[in-house]
This record gives sequence, structure tokens and C-alpha cells, in this order.
Amino acid sequence: MSIPSGITTAADVGGDVRLECGAVIVGSGAGGATMAAELAEAGVDVVVIEEGGYHPTGSFTAESARALRTLYRDGGGGLTVGRPWVMFAEGRCVGGSTVVNGGMSWRTPVQVLDRWSAQEGVRAITEQDMEPYFARAEARHSVGLQDPETIGRDSELLKAGAAAKGWSLVPNRRNQLHCAGTNNCLSGCPTGAKRSMLVTSVPHALALGARLFADCRVERVTRDRGAATGVTGYFVRPGGGRGPRLTVRAAAVIVAGGAIQTPALLARSGLRSASGQLGRNLSLHPNANVTAFFDSDVTGWHGVHQAFQIREFMAEGLILTADNLPPPMLAAVMPAYGRELGELMADYNRVVTAGPLVTDSGAGRVRNIPGLGTQVFYRLADAVAARLVRGVELTAEALFAAGARRVLLPFDGAPAVRSPGELRDLLARPVPKRSIQVYSIHLMGTARMSEGPRRGVTDSYGAFHGVPGLVVADASLFPGPTGINPMETVIALAMRNAQRLIEQRDRYGI
Ligand SMILES: Cc1cc2nc3c(=O)[nH]c(=O)nc-3n(C[C@H](O)[C@H](O)[C@H](O)COP(=O)(O)OP(=O)(O)OC[C@H]3O[C@@H](n4cnc5c(N)ncnc54)[C@H](O)[C@@H]3O)c2cc1C
Ligand code: SF4
Repeated sequence: MSIPSGITTAADVGGDVRLECGAVIVGSGAGGATMAAELAEAGVDVVVIEEGGYHPTGSFTAESARALRTLYRDGGGGLTVGRPWVMFAEGRCVGGSTVVNGGMSWRTPVQVLDRWSAQEGVRAITEQDMEPYFARAEARHSVGLQDPETIGRDSELLKAGAAAKGWSLVPNRRNQLHCAGTNNCLSGCPTGAKRSMLVTSVPHALALGARLFADCRVERVTRDRGAATGVTGYFVRPGGGRGPRLTVRAAAVIVAGGAIQTPALLARSGLRSASGQLGRNLSLHPNANVTAFFDSDVTGWHGVHQAFQIREFMAEGLILTADNLPPPMLAAVMPAYGRELGELMADYNRVVTAGPLVTDSGAGRVRNIPGLGTQVFYRLADAVAARLVRGVELTAEALFAAGARRVLLPFDGAPAVRSPGELRDLLARPVPKRSIQVYSIHLMGTARMSEGPRRGVTDSYGAFHGVPGLVVADASLFPGPTGINPMETVIALAMRNAQRLIEQRDRYGI
């Protein structure tokens, strides 16, 4: 594998490395890579540090077990503490979660922007303020509708179900250029059609002179007289052991490790927020999976997943989609074991997997616990649990309307249901909260923006209150859930906040 010029991996490093630069960026995902590209365009000397490895497009295959091992943190099996626990996934590779995500690209809803402005006093966040950044994000990442021939039967069945129920539905907007519909998005796009950071902002920044260090974990943000001065970390050996050390001295430190790792890094660096909100307000957009069996082949792996979103219930905080979970992921969430699980999985070719994306209430918290490392606590609020159950019921109704013969619900011990009547009977009794099998791929809100230092970890542009030279640039910044796929919000905010940094470059010394 040839490594592009500008990228240094652990294999290239023989001893400790010391560097100086204008801006050091922790993380190369949606926020970090965007910052890198924007600052490099303005002539800033940028160094990006990424804990994960460099895996080019040509290395991606349909083998999801390999992808979980190489592209995800903890094999994609993060777990929250709480009942029910929530399984969550974070990307860990050059390009971050954008390499493994589904590619849905939506602007932040105007009501959400208005709420952030009204509740947290976030400046310059109206729809008009954000329009140029959304447009720039969409142009850079080729956001648009799918070519029709790439839409699979699983999505068409959900669409038919929505039509039968009279529910409104929209075609999904994705960051893709002539996607081939191979449905490997969660294992890395093997054609490069998905315009992730790996094939957009990372090479753009490198071409403009940015340097990227992969396989390198940042341990601490360093400070001098209260101001951020750089980072320290170490290269990760193939087995996970510590390799040579890396020390970077920088005029500006930009942390973009994602909504779990960013507060963990800042807290272990000894940073405190006067607001007390660092690590708090974690939102997860809880998901639960409905598995429907049809009489004939669906072959849901043909055609892109989530080609449509049912938007009928958006005002209630619910979006419904078909997501074609790959076999290992479906097996992990199926309510069965042993032979029974084997029999269910044998029918994989006749299955549609679908479910709700639920707006939640920011009831999670990230903490570093001595001896245990970073832990994620999350309490599924009663109202959110009820919304999740309703989303499951609506998804199952749509799938029955499309012709499903049997539906499995994501509730421990729940029997398979074979008709809308059985579904109604089952859900007439309350579903115990702890029995819901919840997972999440949208992590947000743990270093929220607010103009007020008593409420927010950062100001309206991601500058950490009270620590000169320190900026946050990822999904941690959201002062509440977006209620919709969050990537484009992360990118647009990073573009806007980079613009602010560039305007203030004399103050930062970059
Ligand atoms: C499976 C999956 C599917 C998704 N589908 C969609 C979708 O279809 N549409 C959508 O809008 N959103 C989707 N998302 C969510 C979206 O990808 C994220 O919201 C977005 O990427 C978050 O950007 P970020 O910059 O906060 O973090 P990330 O993109 O996760 O990037 C963080 C990077 O920082 C690195 N890092 C962390 N800590 C350190 C450290 N200490 N030292 C060095 N590096 C570090 C990580 O390794 C990682 O590469 C999905 C996510 C997943 C996991
Ligand atoms: S479905 Fe499209 S975007 Fe996803 S992996 Fe296949 S070609 Fe890439």
C-alpha cells in the first residue's frame, strides 16, 4: 500500500517526534478534516493527529468483521452504562466516522438552529448565516440524490409501506457521486463514490501542505499560564502497545475527536469548564431495529441503504428508515441465540431491517473513571423510551403494509408478530424500558456552545471559554440533538468556525 505524501504512519517512525506548527488538530473526521482543509487553504501550517490507521479506498471490502476491527473504535461495540445499555459505534481511522457512515447529508433543521440561538445565545446561527457553509459543504462532498438504479428492494418496500399508509416520505440526500449501490458504506466505500473525508478534505488539506500523523493517540493538551500550547501523545503499535512519543507545539489547538473522545481528552488534560458542562448533555439519537421477513427475496444488500426517510412523524421527533444491517451487526441485535439465531439468519436474503431515529434529551455523560478509563453513562428518559417504542410500532406497521409476513421487535423476550393486530395486542401492554435493545451511531453535545461561560463549554464559534488558543470542532459542540443525521451540521459548523479563526488569526498567532 502506498501512503500519500504528507501522511506519516507508526511504521514510518523510528523514535520520538517533536514538531512545531500553527494549528494542531486532534482527529481527522467530519470536524477535524474540515478544519484542516479550511485552515490549510488560508495558508496556516496545519498538523493533524489521528489515532486510527490510514486505510485507502482500495483496501475496502464487503467483509464487515474486518472493517469493525480496522475502521472502528472497540470493534464498533461501545456500550453505555445504564439500563437499558446502548451499543454505540465510533469511527477510528483517517477520515473518522465519515469513512464508515451511511452518507446521509442533511442541513440542520431551522427549528434546531433557532433553538440553539434562543436557548444558548449562539451567535450567527440563523438559516441565512449558515446557508453559505451548507452550500460549501454540499459542493465539496457532492451531496445529492441517488441515481434511481442504485435503490434496493428493501428501501422500495419501506416506501411502498409508507405509500399504503399515506405517510410522507423524502428521497435521501447523500454525499456521493454516482454511488454504485454496493451497500458497503458501513465497511468503507470500495468505489470512492461516498465522498467521505478520506477522499475529500484530507487529500485537499495534504495537497495544501498539511501534515497528518496516523496511528497516533493524543494523550494530553498542554498549557502554559492557562493558554493551550500543543499536545502530547504516542504512536500506537500494531498490537495496541505504546510506540514512540509525539510532542507538538502549536499556536492553536483544535480538538475534534468526536463527542466521546473530545471531553475525555480535555478532562484528562486537567481542563475544567466553569459551566460544569464538559462531558455532559450527551445525545445519542437512540435507534432500535425492526426485522421483517418477506415471502420472496429482498436481497437488501443490493442497492444503497436508507434511500428514503419517512418524515410523517418528524414533529414527534421520529424519522423512519430502512438500513440493511450487515449480517454480523444484525446477528448482534437479534433477540435470539444459538440454533434459533442461526435459523433466523438463514433467511437473511428475505429480510428488511428498518427502524426509527429518535430525538432525545441529552441525558448522557462522558467521564474518565480511574482504573476503568473513559465511560459513557446514558439514562433513557421515559418520554424518549415511549417515543422509541412508538417509532418501532410505526416502522412495523409500514413493513406489514408492504407485505411482511413476520416481524421481530427489538424488545427482549417479545414474540414474533405476524399481523398488525398481533402488533397492537403486544404493544397494548407497556414495554419495560430495560427490555429495549437500543443502539446509536449519532453522538453529540458534550462540549456545548453557548455564549455564556456559565452554560457553555465553548463560545458561539467553538473557542473554549477561559482557555486561550483552544478550540473544539466536532459534534461535541451541538447544544442539543439535531433530530436528523448530524454530519453536515458538523462540517458546516467547522467551516464557519474556521472562518472565524482565520479572521482572528493575529490573536491566535497562526
Ligand atoms: C456507522 C455510522 C453511520 C453513520 N451514518 C451517518 C449518516 O448517514 N449521516 C450522518 O449525518 N451521520 C452519520 N453518522 C454520524 C457521523 O458520521 C458523525 O456525526 C460525524 O462523523 C461526527 O464527526 P466528528 O468530527 O465529531 O467525529 P468523527 O468523524 O468520529 O472523527 C473523530 C476522529 O477523531 C479521532 N480521535 C479521537 N480521539 C483521538 C485522540 N485522542 N487522538 C487522536 N485521534 C483521536 C478518531 O479516531 C476519529 O477518527 C454515522 C456514524 C456511524 C459511526
Ligand atoms: S452504496 Fe454507494 S456509497 Fe455505499 S459503499 Fe456502495 S458505492 Fe459506496
